[in-house]
Amino acid sequence: MSFSPSSTAAVAEPASPAPVDSLLASIETDRPDAFVSLGSAFLTRLPAAPLPEPYLVGISADIAAQLGFNAADAQDPAFAALFAGNPTREWPAEKLPYASVYSGHQFGVWAGQLGDGRAIGLGEIEHDGKRLELQLKGAGRTPYSRMGDGRAVLRSSIREYLCSEAMHHLGIPTTRAMCVIGSDQPVRRETMETAAVVTRVAPSFVRFGHFEHFYTNDRVDELRKLADHVIDRFYPHCRKADDPYLALLNEVTLRTADLMADWQAVGFCHGVMNTDNMSILGLTIDYGPFGFIDGFNANHICNHSDSQGRYAYKMQPQIGYWNLFCLAQALVPLFGAQYDGDNGDKRNEKIIEDAQRVLEGFKDRFAPALERLMRAKLGLAEIREGDDKLVSRLFEVMNANRADFTLTLRNLAKMRKADASGDAPVRDLFLDRAAFDVWANDYRLRVSEETRSDEARANAMNAVNPKYVLRNHLAENAIRLAKEKDFSEVERLARVLRNPFDEQPEFEAYAGLPPDWASDLEVSCSS
Ligand code: AMP
Ligand code: MG
Repeated sequence: MSFSPSSTAAVAEPASPAPVDSLLASIETDRPDAFVSLGSAFLTRLPAAPLPEPYLVGISADIAAQLGFNAADAQDPAFAALFAGNPTREWPAEKLPYASVYSGHQFGVWAGQLGDGRAIGLGEIEHDGKRLELQLKGAGRTPYSRMGDGRAVLRSSIREYLCSEAMHHLGIPTTRAMCVIGSDQPVRRETMETAAVVTRVAPSFVRFGHFEHFYTNDRVDELRKLADHVIDRFYPHCRKADDPYLALLNEVTLRTADLMADWQAVGFCHGVMNTDNMSILGLTIDYGPFGFIDGFNANHICNHSDSQGRYAYKMQPQIGYWNLFCLAQALVPLFGAQYDGDNGDKRNEKIIEDAQRVLEGFKDRFAPALERLMRAKLGLAEIREGDDKLVSRLFEVMNANRADFTLTLRNLAKMRKADASGDAPVRDLFLDRAAFDVWANDYRLRVSEETRSDEARANAMNAVNPKYVLRNHLAENAIRLAKEKDFSEVERLARVLRNPFDEQPEFEAYAGLPPDWASDLEVSCSS
């Protein structure tokens, strides 16, 4: 037997680990300042419950790259296995995933203990100086599953994947999604469906409900530990404030106000704004029965289970504010160390006054934030008296005509100062043309007061009024094909939504009005 030169070389070079193994190896679960290190009062460590014969449904190359992984390597079956909760080897003991405990108010009513009933944290990856936590949603039962099966279905997993990526590219703070892994394992909802797992990615998955949990259970030490974790990791400048915990409430209030304005401006409805679905970082989190409004209706309810319309489009800012009260209440035991010299009543009075002042800041932040967004959407570069009326009158006419939210705002950019020659694309969206014309004339007069050319105004407007949003019927088309194991539409749609403000002539149909069949589409909490 003789050795060839190449075989000797192969012996000398140790094989480098497969990319999926390197990815798993890069997940850390023991950093002292990580959420998982808060300990057993906050979470339970447990393995994921693997899904049989997992397959890749979709992957965001952008998020994969942020985690130091090349999406092309996701074809390795070990990738689908890992992100279905089933790594090729057993979970190494020191890398055991975790489910966290939280509580919350659901539909305005105290719901008691909830927790990650079907999400488990894998740990964090630090790449290019950025630390991101990974979470598998739908990876099996946890101690917080209550009556649930710990699973998520393919339909809702695709919706979450597409929408979190779409929101990011609209410039709206959100958790992200790296991939969806499917399996043929049946899951019972209203009908039989199949299971899937979304890998969500965010700097933190801490919710208002985490704070409510420790407050309600009178566990002030844990409450403080959690608040300190959030401050030290995400709001370190709050440490310098007289009352760091009040400063934290202030930060969360401002971010939540900004998020509510962002949602309003793009016609997004979350659907389940329970306090356990509110991110302490002001991110859009927990995509369930969400929806982008098609024909505008200020009272639009996207969640079929929300019979009272608590989370209707126009209610969302108020609900965000209400949820912040719940957070403030939960933080009360931490407030006021600077008043420790005062007597009890005086101290309490000051604490309540401070908290109320901070919460009032929501209104001071939200209204101007929305006004700024709306001004840009209408292409008003200068501030003039009566602009707010002009905006609200547009929404009134849209509301009365059920004019398409996204197309109306997008097509406004085609209107011209000099005459009505560019009105048709937007005017045609209104049944009551005369009512539109009244508004359009006022709008024309208003933009004529500015020196900006029609073209410059249109360019600016097109950069803030998306052409493409994740309309329900687009998601539905992708889901129908995916159920037949054709995932090409998931990828195509994700690609379109990555550039929501650009003209993409080959994808014109994705910007159109929903087809008639889409009016029957219903989304509910059952995901
Ligand atoms: P959501 O309305 O999706 O935010 O969920 C509210 C609570 O129910 C959270 O504690 C979830 O973890 C839990 N949950 C929802 N669906 C399931 C499920 N299929 N299995 C276990 N827990 C679930
Ligand atoms: Mg939730």
